[in-house]
Amino acid sequence: APPPPAAAPPPLVANDATSEEGAVTAADLSLMRKVMRKGIVETKNNVEIYQKDPNNPLYSVKSFEALNLRPELLRGIYEMGFKLPSKIQEFSLPTLLAEPPSNLIAQSQSGTGKTAAFTLAMLSRIDPNKKCTQALVVSPTMELALQTLESVRQMGKYCTDITIRSAVKGDMLPRGQQVNEHIVIGTPGKLVDWTSKYKCLDLRSCKVFVLDEADVMIATQGHQDQSVRIHKQLPKECQMMLFSATYVDEVVNFAKAIFKDPVTFRLRREDETLKNIRQMYVECNSTEEKYEAISNIFTSLVGSAMFFCHTKHTATFLAKRLIDDGYQVGILTGDLTADERVKVLQRFRDGTERVLICTNVLARGIDVESVNLVVNYDLPQHYDSRRADTETYLHRIGRCGRFGKTGNAINIVDGIDDLRILKEVEDHFGVKVVKLDYNSVEDIE
Ligand code: ADP
Repeated sequence: APPPPAAAPPPLVANDATSEEGAVTAADLSLMRKVMRKGIVETKNNVEIYQKDPNNPLYSVKSFEALNLRPELLRGIYEMGFKLPSKIQEFSLPTLLAEPPSNLIAQSQSGTGKTAAFTLAMLSRIDPNKKCTQALVVSPTMELALQTLESVRQMGKYCTDITIRSAVKGDMLPRGQQVNEHIVIGTPGKLVDWTSKYKCLDLRSCKVFVLDEADVMIATQGHQDQSVRIHKQLPKECQMMLFSATYVDEVVNFAKAIFKDPVTFRLRREDETLKNIRQMYVECNSTEEKYEAISNIFTSLVGSAMFFCHTKHTATFLAKRLIDDGYQVGILTGDLTADERVKVLQRFRDGTERVLICTNVLARGIDVESVNLVVNYDLPQHYDSRRADTETYLHRIGRCGRFGKTGNAINIVDGIDDLRILKEVEDHFGVKVVKLDYNSVEDIE
């Protein structure tokens, strides 16, 4: 049979031609969101459930105890600080754990507890007495696979009879040796190699198949075909789970093509709003004054802040100057490798650096919910038409839902053109952006 058509090339997510940086992929953004995220994202939207079989009652759980998990697993969950199931977990966990197993699709934005949900389901379905692979997770990239591996190890900390391993670039097996770990987490390429070429990974006893970050997977050339090839080696009764942050047609069609009668859970993303954001501006008339405003902001800063620049050139210039003046800042540009970005974000998340300077290309990889202040060093604008880029503005400073903490945004306005752009922002959102006088500024909390 001819091979299925190749997946579409990766979309240029959040790329910006004038920023002189390389393209940032969906996988890059997803990884950054993961690293930045400290706790669960709450939302007021309700979970929507779609299923074919009306005779199959679905129920929800309000506690982890109600799931009858083995005590070691429950202990791991509590040690991670989980008290109650998140919204997507409330609904998906009973289905994930039900007998006979059903196939499932779950879509909810990053940070809502999908990884924890399938991790729990996998760990509780393993029979530790059988020394063979019983659960397989396919992740789009090595970095994402390793993040998931870490979560599984953490939750399974007390299930010492369950073995876990990765299958990513660099992982090797001695000739003739078979993989016998209970849970294997890997990337499509490596898994195809191991299952088809080297035949060192036998999936005939696999009970759980997880396709993680399906939207990112599908956006990567070749991954869809590889996932199909892996999927073909699974036994019929294997439970299929697909997780995705977005619910694009490609994902739904892909899932329907390979999964029989999945139950679908969706938690729609809440729109970002500018409610609860104090929007301000500082008027400057030169690069020198801009810098002065920035160092004043730094001095009065309480908590953490992100400074957005249009180009990596500006970001690098600003970071260097601040560092030379004794301030501690992190800098995030599209030039960094995935590893370097992760390190910068971890330091920022942990408070080693309270200020992160970044360019637009990476802005979409970061949820600003935990940041107290966002500074637009350059106003977001379409540089060809010199009109306000209101979408980017909203994305940089907006927050989701009623749980979103209040925040502050300061726009550095340099000259008459910037004032006009700011006016466009005000008109677009119907808000007043308040002028800040830096000589009388109090702490920005
Ligand atoms: P997703 O896979 O949807 O991005 P994760 O499962 O990685 O979400 O969860 C996001 C963060 O929230 C992680 O730090 C995770 O440890 C934490 N988390 C997940 N479930 C819960 C829960 N029920 N209670 C508290 N924290 C949770």
